[in-house]
Parts: sequence; C-alpha cells; structure tokens
Amino acid sequence: MALFPTYNRFPLSVQSATGAEITDIHGKTYLDFGSGIGVCNLGHCHPIVQKAVEKQLHLYWHTSNLYENPIQSKVAAQITTHSHGDYVFFCNSGAEANEAAIKLARKATGKEKIITFQQSFHGRTFATMAATGQEKVREGFGTMLEKFAYATFNNLASVEQLIDENTAAVMVEVVQGEGGVHPADHEFMEGVATLCKENNILLIVDEIQTGIGRTGKKFGFEHYQIEPDIFTLAKGLGNGLPVGAMVAKAAYKDDFGPGSHGSTFGGNPLAMASANAVLQIVFEDTFIDEVEAKATYLQEKLEKEIAPLASVQAIRQKGMMVGIDCHKSVAPIVTQLLDKGLLVLLAGDTVVRLLPPLIVTEAQMDEAIELLKETLATF
Ligand code: PLP
Repeated sequence: MALFPTYNRFPLSVQSATGAEITDIHGKTYLDFGSGIGVCNLGHCHPIVQKAVEKQLHLYWHTSNLYENPIQSKVAAQITTHSHGDYVFFCNSGAEANEAAIKLARKATGKEKIITFQQSFHGRTFATMAATGQEKVREGFGTMLEKFAYATFNNLASVEQLIDENTAAVMVEVVQGEGGVHPADHEFMEGVATLCKENNILLIVDEIQTGIGRTGKKFGFEHYQIEPDIFTLAKGLGNGLPVGAMVAKAAYKDDFGPGSHGSTFGGNPLAMASANAVLQIVFEDTFIDEVEAKATYLQEKLEKEIAPLASVQAIRQKGMMVGIDCHKSVAPIVTQLLDKGLLVLLAGDTVVRLLPPLIVTEAQMDEAIELLKETLATF
C-alpha cells in the first residue's frame, strides 16, 4: 500500500454506511459509536443532507473565494444567529480553524502568548501541535512555534499563574475529548472567562469536538455562563464533508481584513451545502431536546450496567460524549468490540470513548451497552 503509515488502522474495510450503521466489504454490519471521530453527528448519509449536497453537485462545485458565495453567507448567518459570534471564517478542518483563531488572537491583541492546557488537543499543524498539551504529539518535529504555555485543566490558579503582559488568549476545550473525555467544571470555566475579561485576554473555545449538538447543546460553551471571543468548529459541521469554521466577535472584524488570511477551498460550496442542511436540523430546539433525552437515557444505562463492573474506574459524560475510564489499557477492548460489531474510540490509554451519532435509537443504545457490558465484564 503506497500510503504513509500515519494511522494504525483496524481491520475494517467499509462498503457503505447509513444512519448509525456501517457495512463492510464482506456484508458484516457494525454499530458505529464513534461517528467517524465525532463527525457524522446526524448519522451516515442523512437523507436531507445528502439531498442538499446532491442539489449543489448539479449547480457548481468550486469558484474560489474571489467571488460571492451565497451558501457561505447562509451558513455564517445560521452560526451567528444561534451564538454570540458575529463573523465567520471558513476553512477545511479543525486544525485550520484553530490556526485561524491563533492568528486572529495574536493580530488583534498584538500579543503572542497563548495559554492552553495539559492533555488538550488542538490539531497537527505547527501552531496547533504547539497549542496541544501533549508531548507525544510534538515529538520529533524540532522547534515548536513559541509562546504557548500549558496550564492544568480544571485548575484556575494554574491559569492565573501563567498570565503575563504578553498573553493574547486562553484556548480551551469545554470537554477535553482526545485527552480522555474530561468536562470542565463550572467554577473553572466561568473563572477562566472572568480572568480573561479582567486581564484583557481573549477567550478561545475549541468546539471542534463539542460543537454542533454533541454535548446536548448547540455549542458546548452553552453549558456555562461564558461568551467566548472566538470559537472554532469542524467535525460535525459538515457531517462528513470537510469543513472548519472560526467564529469571532465583531470587535475583531478588521483584524482579518483583505489579504490577512485565506484558503483556496475554505467554504467550498459542497461542504457549505452540507453544513447548511446540518445546521437547519441541529439548531431546531426539538432536535437538541431529543439529544438531551437520549443522553439521559444513555447515562442511566451506563450507571446501571457499566459503572458497577470491576474493570471500570469512572464514567465521564457530557451529552453524547462519553468516556469509560478503565483500570488498564483498553486497546484490546476496542478490537474485541469491533469483532462483535460495535465501533468505539480510544481517548488516551485507559478510556473507551463513545461518540454515537445524535440520531441513535434507544434500541441501538441498548445493543451497544449489552456488548460493552459482556466485553468489559471479562476484562
Ligand atoms: N480540536 C479538537 C478539540 C479536536 O478534537 C480535533 C480533532 O480531533 C482537532 C482540534 C483537530 O481537528 P482536525 O483533525 O479536523 O484538524
């Protein structure tokens, strides 16, 4: 295979996928509780999203950002109407959205230091790898982009200690996803927002994994009394088509004027057609209410069936984002579950991460819990 071995791939070759199910080339079906790492929040090939993309496919695919793009404006309007962000920059991935946020924060403040957190994950480009508070991500790549400092998650004093006159921003995930599914405490998150205000520092919330309904709110920061100056989106925004977005308050509009930043493919019409349909569905209050109800159902099941197992140390959950923290490395569990037809994710060494599609049914959750129970019981 002429592919760089950057991924340790599981032995599953996908033939097709619909809703919460994937079928492999041998006809075996799998229940997908990873959603393509938190991307297919509406399930695979959601009919409304598919129709919107098909329609766009017959209109035009790409014209560049040299010309007006009405679908970009529509998607931006949906995001800003449903948040306190005012302006949107579209790109193609989470890392690019965070790159844009880092560039904007440095330009807008004229300062360079950005405080992020131990065990955070913000991407794989040079700036976002430097922002990521995990040594293993940076290993072997030489000198990093400077001026990032790592505070301890859920420890407000550690943030305060790192603030100095050159601090531009604090960048935080409201639930650390890759770092093991750790939700931010209320006191911590609101304390960070207050510290930022008091010190004239921008608050950047990385919503790449937590946004678009994943945590039972439109955006994860809605769980807290905070208003980020900048937030970033990707993953669920396109439900499988590559798209990222950096959203900021009006005060920073002129810092991203003509020529300051850009992307050939950013806001591509096909990705925008998908995002437009996704947001029309996800931003309906009834949809969000259903996600909350499903998350409560899942929580009750997890508490009853999984938490008492000897191999399980703790369960952490925010909406449809779940981490089952075990006493030892869970890599074998992921493979065993795959054999049984359930796809789950790892987060760190000991955490089984569940990111089921938000359209998952109670019957599918029951089935997943049964498989998890029988597998973790003998672990
Ligand atoms: N930020 C967070 C919180 C993420 O979870 C991820 C990906 O897992 C990224 C950024 C990077 O996104 P991408 O892989 O689209 O560049």
